[in-house]
Amino acid sequence: MTRQRIAEAVNQRIYGVPVPYLDPAGGPTVDQLDDTNWKLRGRCTGQAEVPWFDRVNSRATRTGQAVCRGCPVRRTCLAYALTFDEEFGVWGGYTAEQRAPMLAAMRDGFTLGEVLDIALTRAREAEVA
Ligand code: SF4
Repeated sequence: MTRQRIAEAVNQRIYGVPVPYLDPAGGPTVDQLDDTNWKLRGRCTGQAEVPWFDRVNSRATRTGQAVCRGCPVRRTCLAYALTFDEEFGVWGGYTAEQRAPMLAAMRDGFTLGEVLDIALTRAREAEVA
C-alpha cells in the first residue's frame, strides 16, 4: 500500500466525514444528519442499559435491535451510520456487520435512498414473517 493510499484510508476513518462514495439521493442530507436533534426522538433515548455493542446475533444485540423496531427515526439513524461508516454498534436496527453489504452496495453505485429502502423493507418483511 502506498503512502497516499494509507493517508486516504486514514482520512476515510475520520469521524464526522461522509464516506467518499456517498450519493445521498433519496435519503437525508449530510446537513440533516449533522443536526443530531433526531437522536432525541429515538426509542433508545434514555435507555442507557440497552447493550448496543455486543456481537451479531447475541441476546444483547437482539435486545437492542428490538428497541429499533417502530422507532420513529429508524431511517435517519441507519442513514447516519451508513453516511459516516459507523464501525460499531446497532444503528437503525442493524449491526456493523449487517451494514457492511449496504456500504458495499453504495460503493457499487446504489444511492443512500435505495439502500435504505431495501434494508428497511426487508426488516419490515422479516418482522411480519
Ligand atoms: S433506530 Fe434504534 S439505535 Fe437508532 S435511534 Fe432508533 S432506537 Fe436508537
